[in-house]
This record gives sequence, structure tokens and C-alpha cells, in this order.
Amino acid sequence: MDAKQENNQHNTVVAVYPGSFDPVTNGHLDIIHRAAKVFDKLVVAVLNNTSKNPLFSVEERVELLRQVTADLPNVEIDSFRDLLINYMRQKNAHLIVRGLRAVSDFEYELQMASTNRKLSEEIETFFMTSTPKYSYLSSSIVKEVARFHGPVADLVPPEVERALLEKYASR
Ligand code: ADP
Repeated sequence: MDAKQENNQHNTVVAVYPGSFDPVTNGHLDIIHRAAKVFDKLVVAVLNNTSKNPLFSVEERVELLRQVTADLPNVEIDSFRDLLINYMRQKNAHLIVRGLRAVSDFEYELQMASTNRKLSEEIETFFMTSTPKYSYLSSSIVKEVARFHGPVADLVPPEVERALLEKYASR
């Protein structure tokens, strides 16, 4: 590797967008598209959290995210079960991206960001505000609508709509 390549590699800004993504919605996807423009590389990391009772397995959530971000070359999809900052060290990343929808998100997000900062001084959290048309949208709302066979075509990408239909057809 010559000096220029080494320098380029050094300057690559990697951000991690962690979350449950159960399942990915148009709101998440909007943040992913916008963050992918700002950072050199964006790792969307699905939290393997055993304390929540997810509808989709981690593998299913990762697969759906891969499908809906296939057109974004600098986006990588991964999962983790470790403490976020340990996972970030592994990935050599220092930036966390989170989305803010409403004031109600703020308190929890501030608590998380402050905790991560306390655990590692190198970590910075960047907040991106939701696009207004998706500011009410959450994975929970989507599941609630889909469970009663309501239309979710405007809320999630078509791949996710299909996956929801399949899930709830068998329930
Ligand atoms: P978590 O369980 O970590 O909150 P979520 O999948 O619910 O995981 O959300 C992951 C991140 O995406 C959070 O920062 C959340 O605020 C953000 N987010 C979720 N829905 C939207 C949306 N409609 N617009 C913008 N950001 C969103």
C-alpha cells in the first residue's frame, strides 16, 4: 500500500446505525439513504436482543435489510449481540447514527448517547431528524397494522410488505 492509499484508508469515516429493525420501515430506509450520503461507509447493525420478543428473527431482519439496501454500495448489513461500543471497536468505527422522530424519542436517545460516551470517550452519536412524512412511523405501528391485515404498502418497502403478509398469514 502506498502512502496515498494508506492516507485514504485512514480517512474513511465509518458510521454504525444500530437498531432492532423488526422490520425495517420506510423511516429507517430514509435515514439509511441520507446517512450513506454523509459517511464513507454505513454499517446497519441489527441488535440481537433476547429481552425483546421480535416478530422477525435476526437472520430475517438482516436479509430484509440486505434486500432493500442492495442499491447502496457503501452500506453494509450486520448483526451484533455485544455491547454496542465493543462491537464498534471491532468495526473500527467511532460514530453512531440514530434517528429522532419526536420529542418523545429524545430522552431515551440522550440517555443512550450519554452512556455510550461515558463508556468510550471516542464515540460520538449523530442524530438525524426524521423526514416529516415518516415522523409517526415505527416498526411497532407497522406490525400493528399488518397484524389486522391493514395496508402497509406506504409504510415499508415491497419486500417487507411481502414478508409481513407471510408472517401474519400463518398466525
Ligand atoms: P431501537 O429498538 O434501537 O429503538 P428501532 O429499529 O426501533 O430500534 O429504531 C432504530 C433507530 O431508527 C432509532 O434511532 C429510531 O429512533 C430510528 N427510527 C425508527 N423509525 C424512524 C422513523 N420513522 N424516522 C426516523 N428514524 C426512525
